Amino acid sequence: MTEQELKEIRERLEAATPGPWEASGSPYGINVYTLDGITICEKDEATRADFMNADFIAKSSTDIRRLLDEVEHLKHSISCATCAECADQVGDKWELFNHSIYCSNCINYVKEVYNDK
Ligand SMILES: [Zn+2]
Repeated sequence: MTEQELKEIRERLEAATPGPWEASGSPYGINVYTLDGITICEKDEATRADFMNADFIAKSSTDIRRLLDEVEHLKHSISCATCAECADQVGDKWELFNHSIYCSNCINYVKEVYNDK
């Protein structure tokens, strides 16, 4: 996943009504709403699948924020790792190749050597 894709997901999250959201439902309908009562979406005559979809939608606001924060944390942690080739810190422009992490200075060389084998 690219930085641009992550940025676009974060922008969609920030543009949506702030969470957390909740879902409620019965055979007569489902409702996804904020804790202060703003309706996100609703549907009459809901099935069990409709309720599961509503629960997924309701949790997405919080789940996506947590996932984005975790990705950011993991990327930062990886940026402190050392390159498997030169042993320098990989920084923000690292690449995973053949189960090892390489800095941007080494990755092309490593791939050439690997592909020549
Ligand atoms: Zn390196």
